[in-house]
Amino acid sequence: MRKPIIAGNWKMNKTAEEAKTLIDMLKDKINTDKVEVVVCPTFTSLTTVVKELEGSNIGVGAQNMHWADCGAYTGEISAQMLLEAGAKYVIIGHSERREYFNETDETVNNKLIKAIAEGLVPIVCVGESLEQREADIQEKVVTEQVVAAFKNVEAKDAQNTVVAYEPIWAIGTGKTATSQQAEEVCGWVRETIEKLYDAETAQKARIQYGGSVNASNVDELMGMENIDGALVGGASLKEDFVSIVNFGS
Ligand code: 13P
Repeated sequence: MRKPIIAGNWKMNKTAEEAKTLIDMLKDKINTDKVEVVVCPTFTSLTTVVKELEGSNIGVGAQNMHWADCGAYTGEISAQMLLEAGAKYVIIGHSERREYFNETDETVNNKLIKAIAEGLVPIVCVGESLEQREADIQEKVVTEQVVAAFKNVEAKDAQNTVVAYEPIWAIGTGKTATSQQAEEVCGWVRETIEKLYDAETAQKARIQYGGSVNASNVDELMGMENIDGALVGGASLKEDFVSIVNFGS
């Protein structure tokens, strides 16, 4: 059985001081018995959040990283730096990074390979735009993104990689994909992993849905066979995150 994983992507929100306040509000109310819970603050809040979560089972992740060890990459951060700060997870290829910061399938693949090599748990984001959904090419788009992301990744590592299906039209819009739409695409993601590797790898890999997840729609989404968790944006900055991770109770 796959353990569900729910992660909060804080995006460019919360100063370290504000992050501390948010964690203090959330941490004792979150139940991690049945769900792996992760929060992904900004780089400058990582150490504060890690310290604040000492002794809890809530994991900490970064929102991005570079694939090189070090060097002349102004503004970038390496896997080792994230590990030193206490991060155990890293979001890779979020649609906002692909859209505003020129990330490509190739850089996503480089980052995935590096994250695996350094022992970070990668959360790789895929998803179609509104235009692509209207043209009904979401299966092709998402499948190609998954194939490109996993290039040269071995089966044992693919099993530990989390894929987040985030349709761009559902991010921050309040317009969630229906649970059937989300399930359909997450099913294609699993099929693609099976074709790339084997049934065992596909059954072990966890697939999240992301895009306007909130306390009211989480139960239905999590009830779907191929949805193993959620990547939560806006609602992860509020007490709603508690109800989301404690879904079903
Ligand atoms: P929202 O939950 O705000 O729609 O954001 C989703 C997201 O992009 C998480 O990575």
